[in-house]
Amino acid sequence: MSTQTFAQKLQKAMDDRGLRQADIVRLAQKDGMPIGRSHISQYLSGKVKPRSEITDYLTYILGVRPDYFQDNDEPWQEKAFFRKSHKLDNVLYDVRGPVVELAREMELSGTHILKLNIGNPAPFGFRTPDEIIYDMSSQLTDCEGYSDSKGLFSARKAIMQYAQLKHLPNVTMEDIYTGNGVSELINLSMSALLDNGDEILIPSPDYPLWTACATLAGGKAVHYLCDEENNWYPDIADIRSKITSRTKAIVVINPNNPTGSLYPQEILQQIVDLAREYHLIIFSDEIYDRLVMDGLKHVSIASLADDIFCVTFSGLSKSHMIAGYRVGWMILSGNKKLASDYIQGINMLSNMRLCSNVPGQSIIQTALGGHQSVNNYIVPGGRIYEQREFIYDAVNRISGLSAYKPQAAFYIFPKIDTARFNIHDDEQFALDLLKEKKILIVHGKGFNWNKPDHFRIVYLPRIEILKECMEKMADFLAGYRQR
Ligand code: PLP
Repeated sequence: MSTQTFAQKLQKAMDDRGLRQADIVRLAQKDGMPIGRSHISQYLSGKVKPRSEITDYLTYILGVRPDYFQDNDEPWQEKAFFRKSHKLDNVLYDVRGPVVELAREMELSGTHILKLNIGNPAPFGFRTPDEIIYDMSSQLTDCEGYSDSKGLFSARKAIMQYAQLKHLPNVTMEDIYTGNGVSELINLSMSALLDNGDEILIPSPDYPLWTACATLAGGKAVHYLCDEENNWYPDIADIRSKITSRTKAIVVINPNNPTGSLYPQEILQQIVDLAREYHLIIFSDEIYDRLVMDGLKHVSIASLADDIFCVTFSGLSKSHMIAGYRVGWMILSGNKKLASDYIQGINMLSNMRLCSNVPGQSIIQTALGGHQSVNNYIVPGGRIYEQREFIYDAVNRISGLSAYKPQAAFYIFPKIDTARFNIHDDEQFALDLLKEKKILIVHGKGFNWNKPDHFRIVYLPRIEILKECMEKMADFLAGYRQR
C-alpha cells in the first residue's frame, strides 16, 4: 500500500524535477489551468487535495506515472514507462526552452514572431560564399565514406595553418579534431575530462552549452563573473576566489556570446597566470574570432601559454554563415605531456563517433584560405557593423534599458532596470514580451546569469526589422510592470 500522502508525493515530484511553486504556477498560467500559488501551498501543506483534472495536469507537467498520485495498492510496473535519465535533471538549456516552446505554439496557430533569439545567420539573408557551395558540391562524390576520425588531411592541414597564423604553440596534425560543429566537441571534451564532482570554471553569463555539457558529464559548473562595468571582461579576483582543489579547468568564451565582448591581452594573460598557478586546463571557445569590429584584433589565449595545456575551439557556422553544415574543430596546444591520459580519452570518444560530417570537412580548406567575405560585414557600411550601431543606439535610447557596446559577434546583452518594472522573474519578462509584442528574446537566466536583470538580443535581422522590434519593445516597456 502507498505510504506517502498526496502532499509528500507532490513535494517529491517537484524536487525530482527541480520545480518550485512559482514554476508550476507559471506553467499552469501558460496552459490556462486555474492553479495559483495559494492552491499549490495548500496541496503541499496537505490541507487540500486537488480535483481530478488538476491532479491529471500535475501528473502531466511533473512527468510522473499516470497513477502516481492515486492511493494504489498495486505495485507499479515501473518498466512500462519511459522517463528521461536523471543525468538530465540539472541540465539547463533555455536557449531552446519554454519561451521558445510558446513561440512555436504561437507560430503553429498562425502568429508571426519577430525572432531575436538564435545566432543563425542564414535565415536573415547572410549568404555563404558561392565558392564554398561550388566546392562542396563538386567534392560530394568523394565524401561518401567515413574519413579518419579526426578529419580529412586537407581539412586538418588548413586548420593547422590557421593555428599557425594565430600563434598557437606546439600544434601538429594529430592535435586537430574536426567536429559536427563546435557543439559536438564541447560535449566530447567535457565527457572525456570530468568525473562526478570535478569542478570546472565557466563564465557567467555563458554560452549555456558549456554548463549543460559539463553537468551532463557529471562535473560541477562553477560560474565566475564577467563584469559589465568593465566591458564584461572576466573578473579575475572572482575566478581566483572560486578555485578549489577539485577545479580541473577554466572555460573562456572570447569573443563572448552573449555579451559581444572581446578580451584584451592583459585579461587573457591574467587567466593564463591563474591556470599556471593552479594547474588548470584552458578551454577557449573562439567561434566568433573572425567577427571582430572597430579594427580590434583577436588574440588566442593559447598563444600566450606554451607551458599550459589548452584546447581551442572554432568553426565555420558564424564566420561563413553555414551553421547548418555543422563544421567545427578543436586544437590541442601547449604542454600536451600534462594531458596524455586525457588525450587518450578524447581519442577514444573521437573514434567512437567515427568521424564528423565529411562534406562539411571538404570545404574547410576553401573557407580558411584567400579572401574572407565576412570582412565585408564587419566594417562601416557592412551589415553586422551597421546593425550593431543601430541596436546599440536603440537599446540605450529606451528608458529603463542600458547596454555595453559589443565589439564582436552579433549579440547585445542589455541590462533592465528591474526596480522600475518590478521584474523579479526574467523568464516571465520574456514570456510577457512574447505574448504582447510577438518578440522572442532569451532571458539572462538562459545564460546562467543569476539575476533577473538582463536579456540577449541577436542583432542579425536587417535594420528595418530591428527598428520594428525596438519600437515595439519601447512601447511594451512604457507600460510594463511585472505582477
Ligand atoms: N560556442 C559559442 C560561443 C556559440 O555561440 C555557439 C553557437 O551559437 C557554439 C559554440 C556552437 O557552434 P556550432 O554551430 O559550431 O556548433
